[in-house]
Amino acid sequence: MRTTLAIANPTHRRPDMDRQQIYELYEWDPGACFRHPVEGVVDTAVVTTIHPRMGPAEDVRACRDCVVVMEAERRTRASELGIRYEPGRAGRPPVGR
Ligand SMILES: [Zn+2]
Repeated sequence: MRTTLAIANPTHRRPDMDRQQIYELYEWDPGACFRHPVEGVVDTAVVTTIHPRMGPAEDVRACRDCVVVMEAERRTRASELGIRYEPGRAGRPPVGR
């Protein structure tokens, strides 16, 4: 029954399951979260890369909590727009096709 439910309604999952699945989509390294850099070095993942007109590209890193929050926001946004939610790109708009 659980399998049938998951297929029928793939976005309706337990939040703690989502969290682990989201973690697995990213590579985690020590760094500073862009949302609260004052907290120092924590486990972070690259959520997007900024390409300044001048100079090298810069990675934007977010901690585990922030990545989960960002993914939740993107999923809500994708749902509102009626597009497919693609996790694993927290810092980018939820562009769907
Ligand atoms: Zn954070």
